[in-house]
Amino acid sequence: MELGNENATVKKARVEEPLLLPPNVQVKQEGGVVAAAAEGDTRKEMDIIKFDATLLHCPVCSDRLRPPVFLCAAGLHIACSCCQGKLPGKRCHSCDHGGGSYVRSPLMDKVVCSARVQCAHRQHGCTSCVAYFEASDHESACPRAPCSCTVPGCGFAASPPNLLGHLASTHAWPVHSIRYRTHLGLAVRASEPRALLVAAEEDGAVFLLSVAALGTARAVSVVCVRANGDAGQQYSLKLWAHGSGDRAVILDSEVTSSVAPGEINVDAWEFLAVPPTMMTGPGPDKEMVLTVCIDEAS
Ligand SMILES: [Zn+2]
Ligand SMILES: [Zn+2]
Ligand SMILES: [Zn+2]
Ligand SMILES: [Zn+2]
Repeated sequence: MELGNENATVKKARVEEPLLLPPNVQVKQEGGVVAAAAEGDTRKEMDIIKFDATLLHCPVCSDRLRPPVFLCAAGLHIACSCCQGKLPGKRCHSCDHGGGSYVRSPLMDKVVCSARVQCAHRQHGCTSCVAYFEASDHESACPRAPCSCTVPGCGFAASPPNLLGHLASTHAWPVHSIRYRTHLGLAVRASEPRALLVAAEEDGAVFLLSVAALGTARAVSVVCVRANGDAGQQYSLKLWAHGSGDRAVILDSEVTSSVAPGEINVDAWEFLAVPPTMMTGPGPDKEMVLTVCIDEAS
């Protein structure tokens, strides 16, 4: 249940409508009311430092209230759309003697839409301010949700752009700039297992090319560094390893996402197996000649 870790307090909720709250809600104004920007706009914005968050949750199922919100005939008890439809006779769950039926409350709809909170990943650079009932959806898809450095003993975690800077500066992982639908040629040594790829001139996405030993062969994989692989843009990958002449092995796959980019997961991810006969150079530290092409999946 989400209510438990909200600690019954919403800080810095931003209100964009005139406050029309139940009498047991205490609002303390900080720094005065901000005047509406445009003439004729009656909205007033202010920060709230204390707010009883139970008023923004359905008392029946404890989920966050989202429009349409329902109010019992006595005007005392609220319920979410789902719960009021399930209650016997759609009668109030809390009023003595079964109370009256629920009716929609446009006022509560305004209240739950007006209660806005900052994204939990603000410290990682997200400036989004979203409706309280949409905060979980936003945070699960937030592009600034932190990812972890997997270098043993490091423990650093940051948004993908900041993790990129950390990996490049602290651990000296090489960085290459890419453009979507454009081939990037890379010469990767078997002893240099990683390279960061950043689409700096596109959407800023960060990718990691990893190389793992597969006996005497090498497994090469590309993942998108982000905490929410199922949300947002998906990517496709074409990866070539070139041998002598026109010989090449090719991987054509979707790009997996990883919140802790490190060693590749050969059990779960698609990878390109590069046999030793397609590596060049003397001694054990051979080189793979690769071509990478990433595209935004439609
Ligand atoms: Zn409910
Ligand atoms: Zn009631
Ligand atoms: Zn966010
Ligand atoms: Zn680190």
